Amino acid sequence: MKKVAYVYHPDYLLHAPPFDHPESPDRLIAINEHLQGVGLLDTLVPVTPDYPDNGEILRVHDPDYLRSLEHACRRGDLTLEAEDTYLNKNSYSIALLSAAGAMAGADAVATGKVDRAFCALRPPGHHAGRAVGMGFCLLNNAAITARYLQAKHGVSKVMIIDWDVHHGNGTQNIFWEDPSVFYFSIHENPAFLYPGTGRRWETGKGAGEGMTLNAPMAPGAGNDEYRLAFEQMLAPAVDRFRPEVFVLSTGFDAHRDDPLADIELTEEGYQCLSGILVDLANRSCGGKIISLLEGGYERESLMRCTEIHIRELQKD
Ligand SMILES: [Zn+2]
Repeated sequence: MKKVAYVYHPDYLLHAPPFDHPESPDRLIAINEHLQGVGLLDTLVPVTPDYPDNGEILRVHDPDYLRSLEHACRRGDLTLEAEDTYLNKNSYSIALLSAAGAMAGADAVATGKVDRAFCALRPPGHHAGRAVGMGFCLLNNAAITARYLQAKHGVSKVMIIDWDVHHGNGTQNIFWEDPSVFYFSIHENPAFLYPGTGRRWETGKGAGEGMTLNAPMAPGAGNDEYRLAFEQMLAPAVDRFRPEVFVLSTGFDAHRDDPLADIELTEEGYQCLSGILVDLANRSCGGKIISLLEGGYERESLMRCTEIHIRELQKD
């Protein structure tokens, strides 16, 4: 059985919506209670991140954006310019702490303290671009993790696999021209779902041409269609790119019960796909996986799928 870190900080609950909103602290409360209730939490290696300075964050994000985000929180703004993305006075520091959690997961895996990590983070990250927050995301945790692995742990090639139901436009943009980070995203077709990017022909540019791979799925697609895409698109890409580590943008909002989209994955689907990811990681990068929580807005499926995903990460 593999050693898996569970990265969490109680302060993640302090980023809370000033109005009714699906991305709320209840999500992590539900996950923690469930993992405790089924006895899984006790089998994981707990990792609690420290508040970081913004040094590592600046490898990805624009300093003026960070300053404006900090000021907006201090000023008491209720949202970003993108009004789907709320703020409270804690949001800037908790976004830093969320990124710190992802980096703590990266440290634990890269130093061999654990084999894999699941990071129960919020706010989520994959819609955040270099100088913009949107889609409930303030800082791009996956991108920060990739850059951190490269800068601090001598990793050259990182594979980001984004299976949140929404396309990770922020992550794609950040690595658009970068041949050292491969970005794969599977998501509901952007003709039907936010943020409207992630078409098949978006493949990167310049030195990064071919290093972005999008698998848009028709509304109503489910376990079989996702499994085929993992086997026929993702697996060959992993074999070609030969990454040293996987960073997962793990969203559970592709579940059939999730209110924000129309993909029909079930618990069995999440189990099968998690198993495929573990097999691919074993084959290509010594099994190293850092899984970062992104979306997932229906309480029951969120907590059950998180459990199932972590149990697969524990398998050899
Ligand atoms: Zn999502």
